[in-house]
Amino acid sequence: MQMHILSGGRLIMKRSVYIPDAAADEKIELPVLCALLRHPQGNVLFDTGCHPLAATDPEARWGGLSRFMKLISPPEDNLVNGLAGLGIGPSDIDLVVNSHFHTDHCGCNEYFKNATILCSNKELAAANAEDAVRAGYLPTEWKHGKRFDSFDGQRDVFGDGRIVLVPVPGHTPGCIAALVGLDRSGSFLVASDSVAIRECLDRDYNPKPTWNHDIAMGSLAEIRRIQAAGTEIIFGHDAAQWDALKKGADFYD
Ligand SMILES: [Zn+2]
Repeated sequence: MQMHILSGGRLIMKRSVYIPDAAADEKIELPVLCALLRHPQGNVLFDTGCHPLAATDPEARWGGLSRFMKLISPPEDNLVNGLAGLGIGPSDIDLVVNSHFHTDHCGCNEYFKNATILCSNKELAAANAEDAVRAGYLPTEWKHGKRFDSFDGQRDVFGDGRIVLVPVPGHTPGCIAALVGLDRSGSFLVASDSVAIRECLDRDYNPKPTWNHDIAMGSLAEIRRIQAAGTEIIFGHDAAQWDALKKGADFYD
């Protein structure tokens, strides 16, 4: 199996949202990370990044959210183009895993019309709740694909332990991460927003936009155990790690 790290765009936000002691006027750049897992039984995407329109007409695509989250990447910097660079079209994707349904993690879902969307039951319920739009769940972003296949607890995607989706709630009610086992490169936890940046794990805190801080702290503790056992954590939005990762055609296997 091969893992390709691909770009879902690049955001800029107030640094104080992520770093508690940052000055009020400081900014932080946040790469949006997606992963393509090329398993012998199918192509799996983990998260789909930002929709290109969020770069050209953010208000139309994201509404009020566009005041807090701004894309600084051009519209061409999106997952569909990243896949095209590998010779993969949207119809070649069998499964889309959404870690959660915030707009920067499911923005390109609409392109993957043939794919089954894998997510947790709790996240699907949160995204379908009456006040979901106020909580940042926009149906134009997440509600696509051929069908939804949602689950409680863990899900071993192909039953061979190579891609195991694990619950890491707290950022949202049903946030999940992917434990990826590779023959040569070892094991990775693609953490998404359960650990947005390295400092959250190192300094043991969660960013301001966290649904439930106590539950998120429990997930952080679990992730630290996974890390201590020798698994490399791939953060959702860490600029320094992003620079160091293999990306695009340069894969982990
Ligand atoms: Zn995010």
